[in-house]
Amino acid sequence: GSVDHECEMLVLGAGPGGYSAAFRSADLGMNTIIVERYATLGGVCLNVGCIPSKALLHTAAIMDEVKAMAAHGITYAEPKIEIDRLRTYKESVIGKLTGGLAGMAKARKVKTVRGIGKFLDANHVEVDVTEGAGKNATGKKEVIRFQKAIIAAGSQAVMLPFLPKDPRIVDSTGALKLEKVPKRMLVIGGGIIGLEMATVYSTLGSKIDIAEMMDGLMAGADRDLEKVWEKVNAPRFDKILLKTRATKAEAKPDGIHVTFEGEQAPSSPQIYDLVLVAVGRTPNGKKLDADKAGVLVDERGFIPVDAQLRTNVPNIFAIGDIVGQPMLAHKAVHEAHVAAEVAAGQKSYFDAKQIPSVAYTDPEVAWAGLTEEQCKAKNIAYEKGLFPWAASGRAIANGRDEGFTKLLFDKETHRIIGGGIVGTHAGDLIGEVCLAIEMGADAVDIGKTIHPHPTLGESIGMAAEVAHGSCTDLP
Ligand code: FAD
Repeated sequence: GSVDHECEMLVLGAGPGGYSAAFRSADLGMNTIIVERYATLGGVCLNVGCIPSKALLHTAAIMDEVKAMAAHGITYAEPKIEIDRLRTYKESVIGKLTGGLAGMAKARKVKTVRGIGKFLDANHVEVDVTEGAGKNATGKKEVIRFQKAIIAAGSQAVMLPFLPKDPRIVDSTGALKLEKVPKRMLVIGGGIIGLEMATVYSTLGSKIDIAEMMDGLMAGADRDLEKVWEKVNAPRFDKILLKTRATKAEAKPDGIHVTFEGEQAPSSPQIYDLVLVAVGRTPNGKKLDADKAGVLVDERGFIPVDAQLRTNVPNIFAIGDIVGQPMLAHKAVHEAHVAAEVAAGQKSYFDAKQIPSVAYTDPEVAWAGLTEEQCKAKNIAYEKGLFPWAASGRAIANGRDEGFTKLLFDKETHRIIGGGIVGTHAGDLIGEVCLAIEMGADAVDIGKTIHPHPTLGESIGMAAEVAHGSCTDLP
């Protein structure tokens, strides 16, 4: 058939993985095309994920802080919420970032073909072009011939099959649209995404229930970190239903009537104005006709790759959410760079010692490397250094001393193997722990590093000192 475009590198999907792969490929001299179905670059993260959620969480945090000023003798009037303007602010944040990406693509002469791409074989993708020059757009398909490809088609929210189709039942994308502030809201799923959105909506004034089928919220985080979060946040929510699942929902004029089953299930159906389903994300691997290119996709839709992000087909790579957990933007970006470098002939590997996770809730919860639960499960002998923020001058001055910083060290080598922080700005603080793990730092390296006083970051040095007894006695 006829070929409309030719390139050395084709990148399928323009999320954090895709745009990073395309930019690195172009920087390494490859003529690069990105295929993306959305109107803007940035994928889930910029358009309907990391960034809009953080814009709203920032607003919510300030609203909460302003209220807390009452304890300092400063009171403000009740907030007046203009939801349209808040939405406009959120959109403007997204616009700045996606616009920036468009400029970066242009500067590198990376071409974007807009539409849904599917493989024809291991060297051709066909794009169902969704925009373009007016009449050309309708039903037109364009074929791109490529030498190499990086699949970065991401993931999408899982919907529960028993839920009716109703505008009052949404996934995270729907919740981020911020159409109105519901009076009563149910969040199904107590993971990071659900809890972040619950934080935003509760600050805006919604009365919220959270249903989680596991026995705790924020799976993956150390339980002692999560417990602090839960204690601070319990008053924020109406009911936190653990070991409980939503099993039935009926859309009625007065709301969505939800039936629960499980240990803490209410005995009668509960009525909500908005139901957010945040029960996980599923990879888009089955929607790409990858089999026509010979690329293996597993039964869940993930594409298996090696440490160089190569699929089973040598000229085709895959990165980001579509290759597996953790589904996080920073993981996608680092994999993207490896894939592009390998495609350009470099000897790069993805061999991260740690991939951090952060819940940007209030307080924030952040962790990197091994958790205590993982150490125990893997029978790894560790020593722990815990520094409570109740002893941190800065945390006390901030009126937020509920947090703590915890570091885990290998008992033999004293090298850091993990760390977790709960408290304000934990997400920004965890970066030092990430670096320490990658560098193989030990308790003395961290404890003897002079941190600025008074800062929350000091708590990392203090936790290292605690782990090692008194570091000052050591050579
Ligand atoms: P995606 O960002 O999913 O991008 C894939 C792109 O491919 C999309 O633009 C899609 O339109 C396109 N595409 C798919 N199929 C095709 C096709 N056939 N043809 C053309 N285009 C196609 N991660 C963090 O690290 N920090 C956070 O704070 C954070 N917050 C989040 C909050 C929410 C509400 C959500 C939903 C996610 C959040 N994440 C966060 C996760 C993060 O968004 C993802 O890990 C990240 O976007 C994955 O990047 P990716 O490049 O693999 O794929």
